Amino acid sequence: MKKHNFSAGPCILPQSVLKKASKAVLNFEDLDLSLVEISHRSKPFVHVMERARALALEHLGLENKGYQALFLQGGASLEFLMVAYNLLEHRAAYLNTGTWSTKAIKEAKLFGEVIEVASSKDQNFNYIPKNYNVPSDVDYFHCTSNNTIFGTQLNQFPETDSPLVCDMSSDIFSRQLDFSKFDLIYAGAQKNMGPAGTTLVVVKESILGKVSRAIPSMLDYKVHIVKDSMFNTPSVFAVYVSMLTLEWLKEQGGIQAIEKINNEKASLVYNEIDRNPLFKGFVANKEDRSKMNATFTLSEANLIERFDAMWKDAGINGLNGHRSVGGYRASMYNALSLDSVQVLVDVMQELERKA
Ligand SMILES: *Cc1c(COP(=O)(O)O)cnc(C)c1O
Repeated sequence: MKKHNFSAGPCILPQSVLKKASKAVLNFEDLDLSLVEISHRSKPFVHVMERARALALEHLGLENKGYQALFLQGGASLEFLMVAYNLLEHRAAYLNTGTWSTKAIKEAKLFGEVIEVASSKDQNFNYIPKNYNVPSDVDYFHCTSNNTIFGTQLNQFPETDSPLVCDMSSDIFSRQLDFSKFDLIYAGAQKNMGPAGTTLVVVKESILGKVSRAIPSMLDYKVHIVKDSMFNTPSVFAVYVSMLTLEWLKEQGGIQAIEKINNEKASLVYNEIDRNPLFKGFVANKEDRSKMNATFTLSEANLIERFDAMWKDAGINGLNGHRSVGGYRASMYNALSLDSVQVLVDVMQELERKA
């Protein structure tokens, strides 16, 4: 039986998507050829790319609003520097809420001045800073909407006249937001969309072309836009699986419908963390808790071995916390079912009964 996969990333994908993808690897659309052995310029693949780009914009409600969706390579980590390469002329403002924000800031500093408007580093990133000011004369403001490692999530984004840039790698397509407030969104596929190897970038075209530096072609968003996200060979398999996942999401009723289930999953696990005396949540304020990644620890270290054996026996995978936080992390991306979360909660309750 398939495991209950709580892995943080790469992570669970819908089973129906994996079935379709494996079929396409052997024989894509009855061409008697594999998806991965046809030209990326062939009609069937161009259609895949166009459909994936269109579905991404459709889910975010950004069609016909001056946005372009691109499927690039290099992971979200390459976007840390591509964003700065394309947008940073003088200075940019960054909110530091964790490991990924810190890495984005490090890259941006290679291109200009970085103003860290606030940071939660003083408490090992267990909260989301609030009441900070974004200076008005910055080239853009950058934030990370969901902090995959620490289990915090932004619920409010600042009102600013500067372009709003957001790393949504681990919560894109999981909840409704007014996405038109954002000027550039990026997300590595492997958290909520597909296999590793492609990164979705959704960018408002009007913010581009404003820096004076020369930009190498592969790092230039405009080049990728002009070439319809096919400037060079895209990662065809990752784009195809992402397209299938976006189609699956549409069948589920889109972000609106999946958000309801995501809320139920998050309530289920957090209620148990709060109720069960053997567990303690990592995040300081309840309103900052991530609905995608729930971080928690055991209150007594001598229970670790027993708990670990119990959840593994129950068919759970990937529950260990990131090394910088320790404890446990239940990642509950779109494809994880409410039933899987119930299995985890049952194990937590069983531990309480036996301890
Ligand atoms: C995983 C992750 C990244 C890094 O993604 P790569 O594709 O491995 O470069 C960046 N930001 C966030 C929020 C992440 O969760």
